Formats: sequence, C-alpha cells, structure tokens
Amino acid sequence: KIDVTELKEAERAAERANRGKTEFLNNVTHELRTPLTIILGYATFLGNPRVLPQAKRLGVLLDAGETDRATLDKAREDVVGAIAGYGRKIEGSARHLLHMVNEILDWAQVEHDRMTLHRAPVPARDLVRETVDEFRQQAADRGLALTFECDSACGEVLADPVRMKQVLYNLIGNAMKFTTEGGVRVSVGRDGDRTSFVIEDTGCGISRENIDMIFERFRQVDGSDTRRHGGTGLGLAIARHIVDLHGGTLRVTSEIGKGSRFSFDLPDPVCDAAVAEEV
Ligand code: ADP
Repeated sequence: KIDVTELKEAERAAERANRGKTEFLNNVTHELRTPLTIILGYATFLGNPRVLPQAKRLGVLLDAGETDRATLDKAREDVVGAIAGYGRKIEGSARHLLHMVNEILDWAQVEHDRMTLHRAPVPARDLVRETVDEFRQQAADRGLALTFECDSACGEVLADPVRMKQVLYNLIGNAMKFTTEGGVRVSVGRDGDRTSFVIEDTGCGISRENIDMIFERFRQVDGSDTRRHGGTGLGLAIARHIVDLHGGTLRVTSEIGKGSRFSFDLPDPVCDAAVAEEV
C-alpha cells in the first residue's frame, strides 16, 4: 500500500531541490555575466580603436603637421599601451570566466559521482611549491606575505596532481582573496603515515554560524566582504569532494577578524597495485 504522507514528503523534497537548482542557476548566470560584460566592453573599443582618446590625440598631432619625432613616438606608444591594457583586461576576465565554467562542469561530475582520479606517487613539496608560486605576483602587488614551509621528512603522496593542485589553488586563492593584512602561510608536514597540508591566513575569518555552510554549493558568507569578490561558490564543495576521493578529509577552523586555517591530509604511496589503481 502506498503511503500518501511519504509520497507528499518526497514531492516536497523534490520541489525544494528544484527550487535550489533554479536559484543556483540564477546566481551562477549572474556571476558569468560580469566578466562577459567586461570582455564585450573592451572588445568593442578594440574593434574600433579610432575612438580611443590616445588615438584621437595622435590624430590631432598628425593633422596639425607635427614633425617632432619624440612627440609622435610618444603618442604612438600611448596608443599601443592603451590597446595592450585593454587586451590584458580581456584576458583576465576570460580566464576568470573559463575558471567558473570549469567549476560548473566539475560540479556536474561531483553531483553525479563521475569524477575520476589519475593517481600516481608525486612529491608533496612540488605540488605545493608550484601552486604557491602562482600567487607570488599577487602577494607582492598587494603587500601580503606568502610563505611556504615543507618538513624535510615529507616525500611523495599518492595523488592526482592536476586535481590536487586545483584544491590547493582554491584554498590558497581563497586565503589570498579574504586577506587584506598580514598574509598566507602554507605548510606541509608529516602526521603519522600521512602527509598533512595546511593553509593559514590572517584574513577576515568565518563566523561559527557560517563555517558549516561554506562547503555547500553556491554558498558564500553573506556580507559586503564576500559578494564583492565574485565566484561560483562551488570551489570548496569541489575541493572537499576531491580530498574525499583521495581518502583524506578537508577541515577548517576559523576566528572572525583573526583568520582561517584549512587543512587536509593524503596517504603515502604504497607498493600495493590494488591501492594505486584509479578510483
Ligand atoms: P567562491 O569561489 O565563490 O569563493 P568557495 O566555495 O571557494 O566559493 O568559498 C565559499 C565561501 O567561503 C567564500 O565565498 C567565503 O565566504 C568563504 N571562505 C572561503 N575561504 C575563506 C577564507 N580563507 N577566509 C574567509 N572566508 C572564506
């Protein structure tokens, strides 16, 4: 016999899930539109460079019969500089857009439990150092300290290097994003027969009420500090899933106004082929 109450409850749950998906889609589409609008704006300029103020100035000089070589060279350089600047802005926004689209595709894999790993023994130090190096310029530009320490006892971990770098990139990226003073410290150490990775920042921190929800899809802690930064809100949900697939656990502790500490651990490579086979 079919239980009507159970059926109604299932219907309501499906409705809730559906509403959540629509909300998610709305938010994510909005986030995608921002870089797209920037790209379109600058590309329009590049399609018609004559409207650039620098190009107009050069035109005025040429029309007036300016012959001074240095003046003309400088005016031409200004045009090239402006065009290059727009090109860089387009590149930055396109990268951001690609990153978000990749996150959405990854999330679809996570939801259907279709993400696969290609695990191999990789040196823990290299994984982290290469990812940290990607943030050196940003740290220097923003006056933030970025330190990396690796325990000499650390060797190889059994990991998918591409996916693991994605996790590190997300955690270090977030630590940088939410820190305005002080900096970010990344450390790799030994914890029994596992390698532990710690990413600490001296940023805004996360309140006790919000700390559990940051791992949910499309969740950003409310407040001016967060929405301003953009993003799909999928990064940590994906990172946690990748760490889980590796047999580790992603943990966080945080204090508002003081900073956050994200950590996870990975198993050592073992000679057993059954363990090393792909998940
Ligand atoms: P997004 O890509 O939108 O930032 P994430 O899943 O990576 O999504 O992060 C979700 C939210 O968790 C962030 O928007 C932010 O509110 C909070 N958060 C993550 N890392 C930190 C951190 N190091 N310090 C403070 N808040 C953080």
